[in-house]
Amino acid sequence: MVRVLSPSVAIPFVAGWVALLVMTMAGSALVDRHVSPFGQARAGLRAIHLHALGAALLAVVWALPIIAFAPWLGPVERGVLWSIMAMLMAGMGFAFGVVPLGAQVFIAILGVAGTVAFQAQGAVTAAVVSACFQVFVAVGAAETGRTFLDGKLAEAGLADRGEVVSLLLREFEEGEADWLWQVDVNRRVREVSPRFAFALGLDQDDAEGKPLIQLLAGESWETGFFHSSLHDLAERIKRRESFSNLLVRVTLQGQHRWWELSASPRIADNGTFFGFRGVGSDVTERRESEEEIAYLARFDTLTGLPNRLQLTEALGAAMRRADQSRSRCGFLMIDLDRFKTVNDTLGHVVGDQLLERLAERLRALVGDAGLCGRLGGDEFAVVLGGPGIDGDKVHAVAQRIISGLSQAYLIDHYTLYIGASVGSAIGPRDGVTVETLMRNADLALYRAKGEGGAAHVVYEPSLQTDAEQRRQLELAMRNALERSEFSLVYQPVIDAKSGAVLSFEALARWTSAEHGPVSPAKFIPVAESARLIVPIGEWVLRSACLEAARWPTPIKVAVNISGEQLLESGFAETVVSALANSGLPPHRLEIEVTESVFSRDSAAALVTLNRIIALGCAVALDDFGTGASSIGYFRKLRFSTIKIDRSFVQGAARLAPESLAIVRAVVAMADSMEMSTTAEGVETESELAMIRKLGCRKFQGYLSGRPMSADQAYELVGKTAKSARPVQDGSGGARGAVG
Ligand code: C2E
Ligand code: CA
Ligand code: CA
Repeated sequence: MVRVLSPSVAIPFVAGWVALLVMTMAGSALVDRHVSPFGQARAGLRAIHLHALGAALLAVVWALPIIAFAPWLGPVERGVLWSIMAMLMAGMGFAFGVVPLGAQVFIAILGVAGTVAFQAQGAVTAAVVSACFQVFVAVGAAETGRTFLDGKLAEAGLADRGEVVSLLLREFEEGEADWLWQVDVNRRVREVSPRFAFALGLDQDDAEGKPLIQLLAGESWETGFFHSSLHDLAERIKRRESFSNLLVRVTLQGQHRWWELSASPRIADNGTFFGFRGVGSDVTERRESEEEIAYLARFDTLTGLPNRLQLTEALGAAMRRADQSRSRCGFLMIDLDRFKTVNDTLGHVVGDQLLERLAERLRALVGDAGLCGRLGGDEFAVVLGGPGIDGDKVHAVAQRIISGLSQAYLIDHYTLYIGASVGSAIGPRDGVTVETLMRNADLALYRAKGEGGAAHVVYEPSLQTDAEQRRQLELAMRNALERSEFSLVYQPVIDAKSGAVLSFEALARWTSAEHGPVSPAKFIPVAESARLIVPIGEWVLRSACLEAARWPTPIKVAVNISGEQLLESGFAETVVSALANSGLPPHRLEIEVTESVFSRDSAAALVTLNRIIALGCAVALDDFGTGASSIGYFRKLRFSTIKIDRSFVQGAARLAPESLAIVRAVVAMADSMEMSTTAEGVETESELAMIRKLGCRKFQGYLSGRPMSADQAYELVGKTAKSARPVQDGSGGARGAVG
């Protein structure tokens, strides 16, 4: 500008203008710096106005020469001046784009000054060119400003979003168990956070860049057999699907943990996928307690076998499958014989161990054929499903179980033997609902146990009628005592050597108003299970004692006592009372018990029996050879007599070696322990000859006398009795029934 002006314009004017320009520039720079210090991102409205004012001043100073020095300037100088002004306009328009107001003011003042100067000199074309140029530059400056603003706004938005993410990140990092994780396109973990690394049990650097699945799979990474949940995770990541709260079993340092993962794919604006980002937490503890609860609800804690709930569910499922495929399913109920004895004699610790071992064995015996479980106590069950289930198959499994479970168990230096009874039902033949099938298998089991155990009984409809009959009998029996429907018969027990009557066994008889005469083999078990045996048994005891008191000394009376009676508190008192009431000396009363009285609570049974022995009464062991035949009790209780079951008497007479061996052994043992032996159910002379030969001291049976009425019994032995016959108590024990 100085070079253009100095040839034509007076130096002081030029110098004055330069000084003015320098001052203005310095001033506006100062103002700018003041209102918007360096590095400050934002400027207020006042700063923008101040800046525009500075720009206007600057423009005025720049426009001054072309207007004020016009008279001294020729067309060439004017053109050069305008070119410089045009450069400034363009440059400022661009440079001030950030502050559009200042730029527009600057351009407007310079543009107008240029146009006016050309116009004043009559250079119309130049004036038009100047005006057009001014418009172009103004528009260009406005555009620059807008682009800059857009860029700034976008930047601000991005920064906002970045803040949100880091906020989340901080939240996750500070949370208790949660962490943030991300993988790239190749499913490798990236930007591993300290917390995620900690969860992985690795250093951040070690984890960085490793495939996610490799980090989570543990050993199975090599084998490729992933846990199904891990497989699921890999699939979802592969398919680029977002997922939330996905439960994954991970293996870290050889330990299984449960993680809950949520994540979504990361997609760039242009639609390209560049990995996954999500959160995760370790839910092992929560899940384990849930699992434990679920486990406890479905498994037996002692044996680890499925429990009743799971068995019922499995049976339901098997029945549905059978229904769909028109096939069958089987349900086996297993009850242990003599388990109670083990529990009572050796204690619960041994009993529990036995159950555990037995459960193991049962599992092995059943194998893949079905599902076995524990129903409770010493009851187990097996559900058989699948194709080809029929009676034969069920029977085969049942037999396998019975023989397998009855093998010896070696526990705590004890060699234990227990047996098993099995009742089975086949669906849908024996029942279309879970309840009926289970009930029917139970009925079959009841029968199997009733038959002495160690047997498999298949359900048949007659069992149902039997059960119904039992129910009817029980109903009728409830009133039988008041209605005096019971009576007693007496069967003589004979001295094997002399043939003299030694005693009578009192046997109960029931003539029901509804059912007619009912055999004790039928009604005694019903009375036992309904606990009616307690009042009935007491009546038997009192009546038998009263009757026996009429017999001459030393004829004894033997009374059968059930386990239920023995366990009833006050049984010994009942015996004392019966003896006192009747006047029968204690040594003429013999209590007959079977081994089964020891099966529930053998300790209590032993205590009661010892009290009875202490009273002076005798205790006989009935039906020896049919039950557990454990000689263990012989040592604990001084039995007066061992009664050998009729089946061995028959067997011995047939010269069956086993029967002979048992009778010989029992006789020898009883002799050595100063106990007597009675052979039961002797019907023929040859049987009598045999038991005599084998050394039995006493016998009873149809051969020497059937159970007879009280009168007949009295007749048989009472001839020598001097006393008059005492009056029977009102219950009518002497109603003449014949055995
Ligand atoms: P048990 O104590 O073994 O009684 C002997 C059973 O064998 C009696 O059957 C008797 O009639 C029968 N018997 C006797 N001699 C012969 C014979 O030569 N051949 C055959 N085949 N049988 C013979 P009963 O009277 O039917 O009694 C059956 C069972 O009922 C008894 O067996 C006993 O366990 C029980 N019982 C009877 N009365 C009572 C009672 O008052 N209380 C209790 N708790 N049980 C009783
Ligand atoms: Ca008996
Ligand atoms: Ca007997």
